[in-house]
Amino acid sequence: MRSGMMRTLAGAALCSAVATAQDTVPSAAAVLRELQVGNDHHVAKRYQHPHQTAARQRELTSTQHPHAIVLSCADSRVAPEIILDQGLGDLFDVRVAGNVASDTELASIEYAALHLHTPLLVVMGHQKCGAVTAAAESGDAEGHLPLLLGLIRPAVERAKTQPGDLIDNAVRLNVENVVQQVRGSAPVLAAMVERGSLMVVGAVYSLDTGRVAWLPDGRTRTVARLEPPRQSARCP
Ligand SMILES: [Zn+2]
Repeated sequence: MRSGMMRTLAGAALCSAVATAQDTVPSAAAVLRELQVGNDHHVAKRYQHPHQTAARQRELTSTQHPHAIVLSCADSRVAPEIILDQGLGDLFDVRVAGNVASDTELASIEYAALHLHTPLLVVMGHQKCGAVTAAAESGDAEGHLPLLLGLIRPAVERAKTQPGDLIDNAVRLNVENVVQQVRGSAPVLAAMVERGSLMVVGAVYSLDTGRVAWLPDGRTRTVARLEPPRQSARCP
């Protein structure tokens, strides 16, 4: 699609959504706390199933204000709306095997962060990720897979230097790599991170427990340590 046409279509589609978005944007920290509470619901299997009514569906025909972007693996066992107990219009999902960030994923993230004013990006890997496991195995891959696996291999190589389970470490390091990649993605995302309009947080999901572990690092440690509120406070 030509870039001019893309801008026109994007502008038309976003016009009403963007007009009031800046007035209603919740803080990234508040959204993160809500996702943490939503994951508590998933772990306990006490879902609230928010925003899944006919009224919500109708509301979203003319606008959307997703409060979090989730870059996660395409794995069928790691559905963000379920494991974070979210509903229609809550999450801007970018799903790709191995939760990598090539140009198309970065563009999708830019779209949500810049045009929908979504304040939080969660980069989420998961236990026993098949894409990470494949990247750690020797042998030939078919079709387009070598391109994908090549994006994950730097994490695998770093993981080989660390004690512990190779795949678990590679999953975590792959998330950390992508977090750093997104934060440094010029010109759009790096600038948004720098001025504080986008927070990027890493996370790893456990297939065993259903728990999302929020990765601490230099920029997310303070937020990740925040205790979730006693009751879920849904963002508009
Ligand atoms: Zn995976």
